[in-house]
Amino acid sequence: MHWPLSGPNNTILYMLEFAEAEFTDRETLFVEVILPLAIAKNYTYRVPFELNNAVEIGKRVVVQFGKSKLYTAIIAGIGTQAPAKYEAKYLVEVLDDKPVVTREQLHFWNWLAEYYMCNMGEVMNAALPSALKLASETKIVLNKDFDFDRAALHDKEFLIVEALDLQPELTVSDIVKLLGQKQVMPILKLLFEKNIINISEEVSDRYKPRKRTFLTLNTLYNDPDNLRELFNILEKKAPKQADAVLAYIKLSRHQKTISKNELIEESGAGAASIKSLVEKEVFVAEEKNVSRLYFEEEEGINNFELSEQQQEALSSVSDQFAEKDVVLLHGVTSSGKTQIYIRLIEEMIQTGRQVLYLLPEIALTTHIVERLRIYFGANIGVYHSRFNDNERVEVWQKVLNNEYKIVLGARSSVFLPFNDLGLIIVDEEHETSYKQFDPAPRYNARDAAIFLANMHAAKVLLGSATPSFESYYNARTGKYGFTELTERFGGVELPEVEVISIAEETKSKTMQSHFTSVLMADIARAIENKEQVILFQNRRGYAPVLMCKICAYTPKCINCDVSLTYHKHSGKLHCHYCGYKDDAPSICPACGSTHLEYKGFGTEKIEDELSLILPDARISRMDLDTTRAKNSLQNILNDLEEKKIDILVGTQMVAKGLDFADVSVIGIINADSLLKFPDYRANERSYQMLAQVSGRAGRRGKRGKVVIQTYDPKHRVIKQVIENNYTDLYFTEMPERKSFKYPPFYRLINLDVKHKNPEALQRQAEYLATELRKHFGDRVIGPEAPLVGRIRNFYIRSILLKFEKDGVSINKAKAIIRDTITQFQTTKLSKGSVVQPDVDPY
Ligand SMILES: [Zn+2]
Ligand SMILES: [Zn+2]
Repeated sequence: MHWPLSGPNNTILYMLEFAEAEFTDRETLFVEVILPLAIAKNYTYRVPFELNNAVEIGKRVVVQFGKSKLYTAIIAGIGTQAPAKYEAKYLVEVLDDKPVVTREQLHFWNWLAEYYMCNMGEVMNAALPSALKLASETKIVLNKDFDFDRAALHDKEFLIVEALDLQPELTVSDIVKLLGQKQVMPILKLLFEKNIINISEEVSDRYKPRKRTFLTLNTLYNDPDNLRELFNILEKKAPKQADAVLAYIKLSRHQKTISKNELIEESGAGAASIKSLVEKEVFVAEEKNVSRLYFEEEEGINNFELSEQQQEALSSVSDQFAEKDVVLLHGVTSSGKTQIYIRLIEEMIQTGRQVLYLLPEIALTTHIVERLRIYFGANIGVYHSRFNDNERVEVWQKVLNNEYKIVLGARSSVFLPFNDLGLIIVDEEHETSYKQFDPAPRYNARDAAIFLANMHAAKVLLGSATPSFESYYNARTGKYGFTELTERFGGVELPEVEVISIAEETKSKTMQSHFTSVLMADIARAIENKEQVILFQNRRGYAPVLMCKICAYTPKCINCDVSLTYHKHSGKLHCHYCGYKDDAPSICPACGSTHLEYKGFGTEKIEDELSLILPDARISRMDLDTTRAKNSLQNILNDLEEKKIDILVGTQMVAKGLDFADVSVIGIINADSLLKFPDYRANERSYQMLAQVSGRAGRRGKRGKVVIQTYDPKHRVIKQVIENNYTDLYFTEMPERKSFKYPPFYRLINLDVKHKNPEALQRQAEYLATELRKHFGDRVIGPEAPLVGRIRNFYIRSILLKFEKDGVSINKAKAIIRDTITQFQTTKLSKGSVVQPDVDPY
């Protein structure tokens, strides 16, 4: 059976069914490979005779490309025809015994490259963990978390390890020189598999499940006589230990599990006393992964019962799957969507098929992982960017070998080598973090998941409290199935929302810094009741603008067209686009005045000013700046859960599926910055953000409160948030979307043209737009300068194309766009330019 695939730029991936076609070692064979590079075509290499029986589609090979660089490439096709235009080089070696990439995956990559208008190599780069695609430049380090027996290493392995002792980071090229041979990849592959080496990564904030030590009393002491005797001995010799045993007995009347920390707190005995009790085998200690849920709930996890409404929703989803491939579950925050997911996963794995459960990155660091691990045990794999590369490769292999039936993962887990997917769940399907902005492929994992499911004849469940308009539209028009959950689980009420006018409080002089009197009173009450507060501000840093009062000068980034944000922590001005940093001036460089003023405010300033007003409150901050370091995000979440934090100040990070019991007040510091954002999605995004942040309030047995501070309290979207009226939002927005030609009625493709010279760029962008207009007329808009017109010294012009959904073949349109770009790139005019297509841009 042949499986011809039309690749991007009309290359044909000729795929032969290898199992049926044994090649003899005399035949001249060629392999077409995907290189991890942004090149337009796959490349063909000649197979040395002795490797004829080793090549197979989906296996990795090492090839030389360019002058001398080595790359790991994937075999996409095998044939006997030599390339017509160039002489094929021999491939260096075959790395795998079995394919690491399946044919379904190659098909999926091909679709992504076509749909998102990029190259197969770019998709390969996004798809494969770094350790599976070593190249000359890849940096290798020793795995410090792992002890191994050096005596058991082979000579060459030992040489590499020894070199890494002296120099902590080596490239693959260095190792080629070190060993004096090109064939180094198989040795490195083995070292990876033995966990001895690792890819050097800048950020390696590894996810660690939370562990806690639990104690149980030796069953010997269930006998009252034995217990009495134990007391007699302990009271004389170690009274502290006697206290600990007593405290244990007291605690065990009310709870089934007792942690070491609880016992220390309850008894006043030190850790040393507990330790010797464990040594004496009075207590049996056991380390367990801890769920971030309360104990009474933990007990219920394994046999929870669905509420009547959940049961109805579950049956409705199952029924609709008979006819629809995709079903949207629209459930208010805390309506217990996860329990419905669990039931569906259960059903699916009983049939032997695999399940992919997609979540926004940050939600994966919270309780959901542990909750599902308790439930599904070793069947479940977790995949996200906070994992290091070895761990990612391990998940890859286990999915490939069908050892994992369930994968819980962020965006990139759509690239895992599933054999037989039966169900994909996309939780928080509206989340923008499903979209990869940079680099290509600029894919949306939700949309890619729907294609992936289709390949596997699997079903997709999209879940959200605030669905994207695209999905909601598809549900309303019958393309998707649709089910609603309107009640919060366990009868928890939706929070009370109060809107406060910043203008009025400013006038009445009741504002304290950026906080209205209403918000301050609610914060004070929450702290008094030992409850927690989350404050949301969608800007990080201290102050976004530093301005001279006299001449209005503001410091700008030297590489980008944006003003710099002041960060008090570093005392410097930062660019959030390119990372450039500069000292904050105390004298205006333009007019020499000393009257410089910080305008606007970010999370850092909110945290700072709040700590002046409430010096005793324990305040913490969660944004990109505080969560970069290793384990920092995990630590903040732990502290919040263990109630070491009274007030958490954060950016949109706080809105993403975090689940905490004692948060009773949510404050939106300034809703206007969301609502005024110049984008056609501003209202949709604001509603999503406000409703999601609000949903964090009041989870268990108590109604929460949300305070929205704004200059525009009568804003329609705020009213819709208060009324929890998503459908009203949808129906008021839809006519505008239609008349201004936006999704879900139109498909958008954005072309960013970039160049270092603004005049040359303008000419190029205008030429390209004119060429496109010849085909598409007024569907082409621009070129226009985007909001930030220069990033990292590249000036940018955007050309936006809008295609109606009916009557236009989007595939044909993309082919024309691609040809037009290629034609443009062959002209002299295009020199120095970069064109980046973004399909379904955000
Ligand atoms: Zn000035
Ligand atoms: Zn910059």
